[in-house]
Amino acid sequence: MNTEQRRELYRRLALANPNPRSELEYSTPFELLVSVVLSAQATDVGVNKATAKLYPIANTPQKILALGEEKLRDYIKTIGLYKTKAKNVIALCRLLLEHHQGEVPRDRTSLEALPGVGSKTASVVLNVAFGEPTIAVDTHIFRIANRTGLAPAKTADKVSARLEKLTPVEYRLNAHHWLILHGRYVCKARVPECWRCVIADLCAYRPKTPVASAQKPAQKLRGKPPGSASKSKISKSKAAKRSA
Ligand code: SF4
Repeated sequence: MNTEQRRELYRRLALANPNPRSELEYSTPFELLVSVVLSAQATDVGVNKATAKLYPIANTPQKILALGEEKLRDYIKTIGLYKTKAKNVIALCRLLLEHHQGEVPRDRTSLEALPGVGSKTASVVLNVAFGEPTIAVDTHIFRIANRTGLAPAKTADKVSARLEKLTPVEYRLNAHHWLILHGRYVCKARVPECWRCVIADLCAYRPKTPVASAQKPAQKLRGKPPGSASKSKISKSKAAKRSA
């Protein structure tokens, strides 16, 4: 994809969604940081459900430490890897108090020194909480970057570096949200919905999914609906009984 195509791709995503937002619910940088840590290998919806009960009770490092690891686990036990995440959040709170006066640091090195915080989490926090033009690469963005030809590379870190270098400066702040939302709702992993995609003509993916055949592969991949296989068996067995 060349420079003009990249600019056009972002122009269209921006037109379709001028003010993209994170789907994680938070009201402070600390809540955002904890939510992003909890969201590893979990859905934003699942994290929001847990934090809707947690944050009214404990939404600062002091309050979460006062709650303790065991009670924190109870609040987040519906989220995958909750035991490890509870341990990390407790350690993270301790470090924030010891080294950052309880505030979320605004630099990558300090963020990545926190337990449970890798480069992706740091990028999301820098972008969403502090307005830095970072582009964290999750599974959706990795897929889109490679499928479309926007920034093809073999690892998430390489895709991130390419995106940050190649994305036109005026689109860098929101690129993360536009790409993630496009991957979540249109350019889906199993069957990309090319027939309703606003960047289809710019995208290198072939063959495009046509509207008429869109449902067939999805059904095939999901397997037959419960009961459909047995119906034919049932009618065959009824026919066999009738003829016996
Ligand atoms: S055309 Fe299809 S593969 Fe390309 S970005 Fe759109 S949905 Fe994804």
